[in-house]
Amino acid sequence: MFDRLSSLVAALTLIAVAAIFAALAGGDALSIILLALAGGVGAAIVHNALPSLPAQPHSQPAAAAPVSLLRHPDFALWVDQEKEPLIGVAGNVVTIVNDPAVRLLGRHIVGADIRTAIRHPAATEWLSRINQDAVLDTFDLADFPRPGQRWTMRIAALSDGERIIFLSDRSALDAADRMRSDFVANASHELRTPLAAILGYVETLQDMNGDADAATRHRFLSIIEREAGRMQQLVIDLLSISRVEADRFRRPTTPVDLAAILRSTISQLKDSEAARPTDIVARLGDEKLPILGDEAQLGQLAHNIISNAMKYGRAGTPVTVELLRTGQRVRLSVSDEGDGIAPDHLPRLTERFYRVDEARSRSVGGTGLGLAIVKHISERHQGQLDIESELGKGTTVSVTFPLASA
Ligand code: ADP
Repeated sequence: MFDRLSSLVAALTLIAVAAIFAALAGGDALSIILLALAGGVGAAIVHNALPSLPAQPHSQPAAAAPVSLLRHPDFALWVDQEKEPLIGVAGNVVTIVNDPAVRLLGRHIVGADIRTAIRHPAATEWLSRINQDAVLDTFDLADFPRPGQRWTMRIAALSDGERIIFLSDRSALDAADRMRSDFVANASHELRTPLAAILGYVETLQDMNGDADAATRHRFLSIIEREAGRMQQLVIDLLSISRVEADRFRRPTTPVDLAAILRSTISQLKDSEAARPTDIVARLGDEKLPILGDEAQLGQLAHNIISNAMKYGRAGTPVTVELLRTGQRVRLSVSDEGDGIAPDHLPRLTERFYRVDEARSRSVGGTGLGLAIVKHISERHQGQLDIESELGKGTTVSVTFPLASA
């Protein structure tokens, strides 16, 4: 179809063509003018007969009907890349699901009614109750899909009654929260026990009003001192564990000499009032063994492992501290000859406050945090912690670190 401008061009062309034909036919000037006028009039009639169309920009095609997001091919691509379950619903019918949703709810949900597909009373109620255009906040699916687990569900409303349902697993977050609150409860309990003893003995001494003989007073004061020492050690260990945890993702960058750190830790332990300073046997070699590390933390790691061997090994038997280089790695091992640890306890020893024998740990001044601190320090230094033990024979705790040059 022509617009006004095109019609004008066509008319002028027609006049020119008519004039040329008249000239070629050998007519006189008047017939040429008449022919040209006739052409012009014809073109004008044609032009007037044409409806006038609104001007359309050439770059814009006619507007297409809106496409459903759920049926768009890119939507299927996106859904497949999502790591968490995603369900597309038209009306109440499930039309599209990704693999995580299939793993959670089964493939049979495609084509099923969404109110029965997610088998949870709260989900069914929400999905039945809500206005289809409503966008809802996230809400909880407690004990879903199994008791003790928790998922959340979120709904995004699209046009034409289509909806996208997002499901998200919160069980791991809940477990981390539980661990945190258990830790606070355990730490409070650990502090309360010595505190109660201290308060009890102080009160008794006050009640005796100076009547206590010297021996009794000395005994009570010794208990108070021991319990206060226990509290102090617990506070030191609690501070250590929180500091080590805060540094967890900061890789050490300074080369330090592991053998030198061990020598210094062993001499500190020998100088301290530890019960068996002469039992430590060090086999550290002469080679410098640099690893990328935090000197204070590595000293603490060595201190905790060696003092455990001294606490739980039999007095008079050796506690052997050894450094062994294998290729680009160095292995620190500490072996004792003691009662050993039953295999079922081994995987839990690095949990905070986990003890095989609580009374024994307390009697030797343990806080139950030593190996948890060792585990964190070892992880920060890309070390591998291994605990091997044989009941009645003894235990070897080792940590293998990558050498700095590796
Ligand atoms: P604790 O302060 O109680 O020693 P740790 O975290 O250092 O706490 O150790 C956890 C538990 O592991 C200890 O209570 C003890 O039962 C056990 N354990 C650790 N090292 C040894 C060892 N060398 N021999 C025997 N048992 C050990």
